[in-house]
Amino acid sequence: MKIQMLDLSEQYQSMREEVITKLDEVMSSSQFILGSNVKKLEEDVAKYSNVNYGVGVGNGSDAIHIALQAGGIEAGDEVITTAFTFFATGGAIARAGAVPVYVDIDPITFNIDPSKIEAVITEKTKAIIPVHLYGQMADMETIRDIAEKHNLIVIEDAAQAIGAKQNGKSVGELGTAATYSFFPTKNLGAYGDGGMIVTNDEELAEKARVIRVHGSKPKYYHHVLGYNSRLDELQAAILNVKFPRLNEWSSARRERASYYTKRLNEKLSDILQTPIEKEGNYHVFHQYTLRVPNRDELQSYLKEQGIATMIYYLMPLHIQPVFEELGYKEGDLPETERAAKEALSLPMYPELKQEDQDYVVEKIIDFYSK
Ligand SMILES: *Cc1c(COP(=O)(O)O)cnc(C)c1O
Repeated sequence: MKIQMLDLSEQYQSMREEVITKLDEVMSSSQFILGSNVKKLEEDVAKYSNVNYGVGVGNGSDAIHIALQAGGIEAGDEVITTAFTFFATGGAIARAGAVPVYVDIDPITFNIDPSKIEAVITEKTKAIIPVHLYGQMADMETIRDIAEKHNLIVIEDAAQAIGAKQNGKSVGELGTAATYSFFPTKNLGAYGDGGMIVTNDEELAEKARVIRVHGSKPKYYHHVLGYNSRLDELQAAILNVKFPRLNEWSSARRERASYYTKRLNEKLSDILQTPIEKEGNYHVFHQYTLRVPNRDELQSYLKEQGIATMIYYLMPLHIQPVFEELGYKEGDLPETERAAKEALSLPMYPELKQEDQDYVVEKIIDFYSK
């Protein structure tokens, strides 16, 4: 048996002809940059997120960076976020010239703990970036209230959470803007890099459009320092084929998550913690992540049995060497650090077979029976 974290081949085969036709259309038209496919995807994804504007950019990391810049974040400003995330969240803040301020997580959802935000707000604080980790939204209502009280913008890092909801509200509805990644492994993945900013803020959207083309407006006049970060037309054509299937894939992920949870809790509910979906949340399970004892031994054991697993994230951002000068040390964010020692993500994708899930569950049970 060999079970991968993610296998994209079946999905591709299910829409191969359509993808090839769309790519051929783009190549025949010779419209490679910011053409009709990017425009269509921007409109569709904005509508899907219940907001007015979508701005396609080069990748999810630039989406965060550009959203910060378009939202008025400047050198020396402080931006509050979580340290339990992919590097890009903190990296984008630093690239915008701002200072990341890391807050501990809620151990139930692995997302930023809103009750710890106000304590770190200073005169320099300008923004909050909650990350909707693994596909479950952070507590957006509380975060929005804090942001309004302190006049901060909120950029939702929704790279892992396209399609997620909270009390009926979509990603992007409660923040100033939300950012998506179309990296191939994400829930809506391109066949290369891509990203998007969605927002109801017309001015932010317009600034983002200018920043992604070198800050050029009118053409060849530069009032802001932009760069080259556009969603590629070929990638947008592929995403336009995939997008109508996204809700179906999210449901398939949720079914597989429920099945893992049911099977694991039959035998191991005293030993490990399965993912918890908070009331009101619609979790899209970009990852299915457990908390387990003896995590590293379990991972090695599963690897010997042909089962791939991943640790998201082994080293939280506050103790990454590149952020050393921020002055954090181990022990500063105890829940973040505990999660980094306990989290283990299992294979998860819409086409994952039930017999593969059974095999994964049986091997985890075997490990803890020894
Ligand atoms: C993937 C990811 C990003 C970055 O997206 P890219 O498209 O790879 O640049 C940012 N934040 C989080 C939480 C991610 O998972």
